[in-house]
Amino acid sequence: MDFHISQGMIDTHFHASVMEGKGMNTVLVLRQAVNSGLAGGIDIGLTPSDFLGRKRLLKDFPSILLSAGCYPSETERADTDSLLSELEKLLEAENPSALGEIGLDWHWDYGSRKQQKDLFAGQIALANKYNLPVLIHNREADADIIDILTAVPPKAGGILHCFSSPYETARKIVDSGLYISFAGNLTYKKNDSLRIAASKLPLDRIVLETDSPYLSPQKRRGKPNHPGHIGYTYEVLAEVLKIEMEDLIIRVDRNFRKLFNSGF
Ligand SMILES: [Zn+2]
Repeated sequence: MDFHISQGMIDTHFHASVMEGKGMNTVLVLRQAVNSGLAGGIDIGLTPSDFLGRKRLLKDFPSILLSAGCYPSETERADTDSLLSELEKLLEAENPSALGEIGLDWHWDYGSRKQQKDLFAGQIALANKYNLPVLIHNREADADIIDILTAVPPKAGGILHCFSSPYETARKIVDSGLYISFAGNLTYKKNDSLRIAASKLPLDRIVLETDSPYLSPQKRRGKPNHPGHIGYTYEVLAEVLKIEMEDLIIRVDRNFRKLFNSGF
C-alpha cells in the first residue's frame, strides 16, 4: 500500500465497506492513513442496512464520522415510503453525523426518475427534521438537483460530492450554501475544465475526498483507491488555487469542522 498524505488532511467521502468488499484490509489502511496525517473523514452509507457493520468496522476511529442514507439505486429495492421509514428508524436509533449519500443519477437511471426525485426530496426533508447535513450524489442531473435543492433547501447544509459539472452549477450550489467536494478526477490530465471551475470557487466552500475505493487519482489510476491517497488531490487543488499546501489544509479543515460542528 502506498500513502500520499500529510498531517491534517481530511477525506470527506469514502466507502469503507466497499473497500473491505474489494479485499482491502480497511482497518489497517485507515490506521496507517491516520498515523500518516488523516485528521478526519466521513464513511458514507448506501443503504440503511449497511450502517451497523460500518459502525463495528470503524469503532476504533473517533475522527471518522458515519453517514446513513439511501443511494439512488435503492429505488430498485423498495418504494419511497418504505425506504424513508426504514431510514428514519435508523436515524432515531443510531444518530449518524450526516444523511447520505443521496441524490440523482441520470446516467444509470435507477428506478424511475420520479422515484429518484421523490426519494431525494424525502431524504432532504428527513435531514431537516433531524438537523443533519446532506451528502449529495449528482450524475448528469445538474438541473434537477438544483430544482430540488431550491424546493427543499437542506437546513443544516451539506456537500455536493465528487464535483464534475460546469462552473455554473458549482456557483449555484455554493450560492445555496452547500460545499463542493473535489475527488481524484480533479487530477486527471484531460480535466482542465474542472480545474478551471475549481480555481473560480471561494475556498471557504471547498472540501476534498477520495471516494475510495473508486476514482483513484491520476498517479494511482488502475489501483483501488483509499483515504491515504487524499494528498494527490490536495496537491492539484493547491496548485490550481495558487496557495500554500499548509494554508489549504487549514482552510479545508475549518470548512469541515464548521459543517459538522465536530469536536474531535
Ligand atoms: Zn460515494
